Amino acid sequence: MTDRYDDQNIFARILRGEIPNKTVHEDDWALAFEDVAPKATVHILVIPKGPYVDYGHFAREASDDEILGFTRALGQVCEQAGLEGGYRVVANTGADGGQEVPHFHLHILGGEAIGPIRA
Ligand code: C5P
Repeated sequence: MTDRYDDQNIFARILRGEIPNKTVHEDDWALAFEDVAPKATVHILVIPKGPYVDYGHFAREASDDEILGFTRALGQVCEQAGLEGGYRVVANTGADGGQEVPHFHLHILGGEAIGPIRA
């Protein structure tokens, strides 16, 4: 894994307004939008505004304000989505984790029974 941030990645372009998206929340720290290829009834992506490649990079390099702001935004999005039955938050990280877009993001999956994580 690398901390080298590619500012042409698709989420960087979404943050710059170069690619349309279905935004559900935006504040100083985070943007949340509907996944274009949903893997559950509700599938929302939450991304920090800062240039972080993955979770490890974000955890290491982001300021306390960024981490707090992003975490609170995530909580707000989950609550606003009305997922009373529960939900799953996933951070695919690196090649083995199945990460395709190299800008840190969390998947919120819900609106149906996702079930346990299985091998
Ligand atoms: O965690 P990973 O990098 O694999 O997930 C990337 C996600 O970004 C995918 O679920 C994909 O459907 C989504 N995506 C999107 N809008 C784009 C490009 C990708 O919602 N323009």
